[in-house]
Amino acid sequence: MLKEIPPTKQTVSFLVLSFFLAVVSSWPPADHIPFVRTILYALFSFAIFLVFGYILPRRLSLAVQILFALISGIIAGQFLRITDHSRLATDGWGIIGTLFLLVLKLPILPLIFVSIVCGVVGIGDFKRLGAVGTKTILYYLGTTALAILLGLVLVNIVPFDKVPKDNTHTVSSPNDSSPQSFGRKIQKEILPHYLKSPIMTDQNPLTVILFGIMMGIALGATGTKAQPVIEVFRGLDTAFAYLIQGIMQWAPLGVFALMTHSITEQGIEYLIVLARCFLTVITGLLLHFGILIFVLLPVLGKFSPRQFLKGIAPAIEMAFSTSSSNATLPVSLECMARRVGTDSSVTHFMLPLGATINMDGTALYVAVASVFVARVYDVPLGLSGQLVIFWTALLVSIGTAGVPGASIGLLGVIFQATGIPLEGISIILGVDRILDMCRTVVNITGDCVGVVVVSHSEGLAISPRRDTVEENHRE
Ligand code: ASP
Repeated sequence: MLKEIPPTKQTVSFLVLSFFLAVVSSWPPADHIPFVRTILYALFSFAIFLVFGYILPRRLSLAVQILFALISGIIAGQFLRITDHSRLATDGWGIIGTLFLLVLKLPILPLIFVSIVCGVVGIGDFKRLGAVGTKTILYYLGTTALAILLGLVLVNIVPFDKVPKDNTHTVSSPNDSSPQSFGRKIQKEILPHYLKSPIMTDQNPLTVILFGIMMGIALGATGTKAQPVIEVFRGLDTAFAYLIQGIMQWAPLGVFALMTHSITEQGIEYLIVLARCFLTVITGLLLHFGILIFVLLPVLGKFSPRQFLKGIAPAIEMAFSTSSSNATLPVSLECMARRVGTDSSVTHFMLPLGATINMDGTALYVAVASVFVARVYDVPLGLSGQLVIFWTALLVSIGTAGVPGASIGLLGVIFQATGIPLEGISIILGVDRILDMCRTVVNITGDCVGVVVVSHSEGLAISPRRDTVEENHRE
């Protein structure tokens, strides 16, 4: 799609955008060289637009482009931070990241609805729906419980150095707001105001899922009279896939912007303050990821980890850069149904459900973070306190939406239940954003492995669609 835009038009739009970003990030001027600064920023931005919007799309597959954007985003972010040019990322490129995320999220709720309806109708009879539904819930609850246990075991065996509470002021919160510049106003107020989905706005995804399941059952039971409506839903489903593919063409630019923004805001160095907690969570996430891919997938799903990872690579990259299971959902649907080749009905039923109720990474994280903060505040937890953490994390993670920073709300509930002071949340806020990226990867991987496991148990064949076999081959 990007390749179809005439080069001159594309170059002119990139130039205009580059100047716009440069101006919003250098005005009002903080020093005596605003003009030079603006030109430099514009040149830097133009080079990035050319690389990710023009050169790479003609040479590399989308998954490799996104990976490239991710790594260069981290490098550029750290560079801008240490050379004191953070505003280019936070005020300027942040606009591109916000725009990309908002556009990607625009179709999410209607997509969940259409996807669940198609999944339920496709699964067919009630008996099979019941079997798939039960296996789905069992798998999701089982893996979440496993993740929490893993987190609790790890945090209990890790030796603990006391973290001075007043260290928290050195840790910047992702929501820290310096006086609102125009660039930030665009990101926080203007764009979200105009790019709000007109359909199903503010609905709870769980309600949308429930309504989708009910509608799917009703359509299936209506018989031939409902056939035209079912066809409309299938048509919409295909249209959503096409729409998401179009939006994803811009993913490399969006991912670059998001990564640069978060690294510039957070930096990598502050992680040292919370190294123990950070490393424990990372170790837990890696172990759980390993169990999902190298144990559950081949044992329960009889599927090759290599082929699976190759298939879901774009979804993993998306999850890492957006920190949102919901925003990644369209990509995971596409990856599973086409690149991995799982049964379309099971995929469309399970993934939207998983994005909302199955959060292995999140559950593991809140378990570790709660015990960690309890120790900082000398709150004795004991076995009973940790059991409370286990149950609360398991139950509350079911109703937590797959959005960036969702764990913070979850932590609030657990802290209240266990008597840990709520202000303890500020201690781990500093590491939250980077860990959010990692746990979202584990969250969506858990959902996708579940689709393979349930598909296999239902005796459904799994093989990539022909068009993607060639695409994978090219990579
Ligand atoms: N960002 C996570 C997700 O969307 C949720 C969280 O852990 O905050 O899956």
